Amino acid sequence: MNMNGKTVVVTGSTSGIGLGIARGFAAVNANVVVNGFGNAADIEKEVQALEKLGSGAVVYDAADMSKPDQIVAMISNAEARFGSVDVVVNNAGIQTVEPVETFPPERWDLIIAINMNSAFHTTRAALPGMKRRGWGRIINISSAHGLVASPYKSAYVTAKHGITGFTKTVALEAAQNGVTVNAICPGYVLTPLVEKQIPETAAARGISEEAVKRDVLLAAQWTKKFVTVEQLAGVALFLCSDAAENITGISLPVDGGWTAA
Ligand code: NAD
Repeated sequence: MNMNGKTVVVTGSTSGIGLGIARGFAAVNANVVVNGFGNAADIEKEVQALEKLGSGAVVYDAADMSKPDQIVAMISNAEARFGSVDVVVNNAGIQTVEPVETFPPERWDLIIAINMNSAFHTTRAALPGMKRRGWGRIINISSAHGLVASPYKSAYVTAKHGITGFTKTVALEAAQNGVTVNAICPGYVLTPLVEKQIPETAAARGISEEAVKRDVLLAAQWTKKFVTVEQLAGVALFLCSDAAENITGISLPVDGGWTAA
């Protein structure tokens, strides 16, 4: 597969799954817009490393995915720089693990803004260009929690279920314009987001961190293996391939059998 000349925006790609997906696209020669928080020097090093993977250009945009005006500016800057935004991967996400009665309202608002609303804002900004050119891919990094729930993650599960509905709706709206819209629903991947939840979940459930890994995280993952960022990059690239032209509106589990049970 070669994505030479195509431009991909990956939100939240300074870490974890987003960075893995950015690497996957850079390696097939796409131009990549990296986004997310982090130390400026580390990000610059990562941008240079990504650039070495293929022949595309790699740029960093610091847009905050909780700020609609910054999201719109990120898409228009990418269009101005590269001439098009052909693929948007809505990946930025945060988590809080807390019973609903004590869930901080400001964290609820922030999780809904970053994990759900940002996909609306990127899509709204990028879709007109995709439709005009007759080709585009919108890939929403949802979660197994876009399909099923777990306790103490009310905001996250709500946002991810929202993404499932948004994915279906925009898929129908864009279906005749060469644009597909899909969600990938990973099970647990050992990224900083999950590492951080281990002590939180241990506290919320009153169990040890080892027990969280064994009895909570991998309990429902029938393969007993964490999903890897490389596997998710492979699935995202597949959704950009010609073979996937008629796949649209789906929420594809990559979860070791979790949501099959
Ligand atoms: P991570 O914490 O490693 O990375 C999150 C990225 O989002 C970082 O680059 C961070 O800087 C960025 N980010 C956070 N807030 C942002 C904001 N306001 N604006 C811009 N960027 C922001 O997390 P991850 O595990 O790689 O998660 C990535 C996505 O995958 C999330 O949507 C998450 O819900 C989803 N997911 C993760 C898992 C898992 O097990 N790790 C499973 C299913 C789904």
